[in-house]
Amino acid sequence: MSDSVERIKTLIIGSGPAGYTAAIYASRADLKPVLYTGMEPGGQLTTTTEVDNFPGYPEGVDGPSMMVQLQQQAERFGTEVRIGMITSIELSDKVGGIHKAVVDNNKEIEAEAVIISTGATARYLGLESEQRLRGGGVSACAVCDGFFYKGQDVAIVGAGDTAAEEASYLANICNKVTMLVRRDEMRASKAMQHRVNSIKNIEIKYNTEVDEVLGDQVVEGLRIVNNQTGEKEEIAITGLFVAIGHKPNTDIFKGQLDMDETGYLITKGKSTKTNKPGVFAAGDVQDKEYRQAVTAAGTGCMAALDAERYLASNE
Ligand code: NDP
Repeated sequence: MSDSVERIKTLIIGSGPAGYTAAIYASRADLKPVLYTGMEPGGQLTTTTEVDNFPGYPEGVDGPSMMVQLQQQAERFGTEVRIGMITSIELSDKVGGIHKAVVDNNKEIEAEAVIISTGATARYLGLESEQRLRGGGVSACAVCDGFFYKGQDVAIVGAGDTAAEEASYLANICNKVTMLVRRDEMRASKAMQHRVNSIKNIEIKYNTEVDEVLGDQVVEGLRIVNNQTGEKEEIAITGLFVAIGHKPNTDIFKGQLDMDETGYLITKGKSTKTNKPGVFAAGDVQDKEYRQAVTAAGTGCMAALDAERYLASNE
């Protein structure tokens, strides 16, 4: 551990749309934010090709470019963006207390306010072929990428509310959606199950898993396996959507911040306040329902405004 401790006013953890929007607002309000990017600078959007649903980009924008622009906008007002990971943190219980964070297991930093925008990570199946074809037809976000498969045949893996919702979203755009459910029933709510069952161009295959994603550069099909009979089958598709859940990046806050049973941070009412004074949460780390770049950006703005009011009230 290096021995010099740096004291800052506002620490922002995470560099997706929530973190950068918080940074834009915080730096304009003179909260002197220092933003640590985390392991995946730019967040989940950097794994998306085209972003067509963020307002203000009539021609669309590719995810990585958009994140560079957000970073530049935050830096223009004085945000200090640093590559690094907050590896542990000790959050104060007191109003006006100092929060202590460690960067890359090495550098100590103290902050008066903390904005957590560490996001969530989509879960993938873990197949080699699936990982190789991410961005080439394998996606974890139907709302982001479904449009590119207009009129085509696609498949979706998963059986929760997200998979059911995304299957019905895709059914509106695509020719056919094959939904792969690993058990003999779905986890999704009865209402969502009813919805997917009633849509004619969704075919649900139960007890079915992906054995291999087929294709060299782009997805051309799937080899699926019935886990009861062992029978394998190939289906022709151009897009595979993986909707088997997300993991919020909240491990370092366990035992300190209130979380729901799946690890998402709980914020108070309509605010971004957590259970610790001066600690705010924005973006996917506190939202398992909407998970859009624009909603993340909106809560990033809220977190900066909440932090500004908190810091002003302590002066
Ligand atoms: P869930 O954890 O609820 O569901 C994940 C699904 O993926 C399960 O059906 C699970 O199967 C399946 N799965 C997991 N691993 C694999 C695998 N390796 N192969 C195949 N299938 C797999 O995640 P969701 O993202 O669907 O939902 C998260 C939370 O958000 C839930 O609480 C949900 O209710 C909520 N939500 C609410 C919405 C709404 O109200 N409008 C919309 C979206 C989400 P199995 O069932 O066999 O475990």
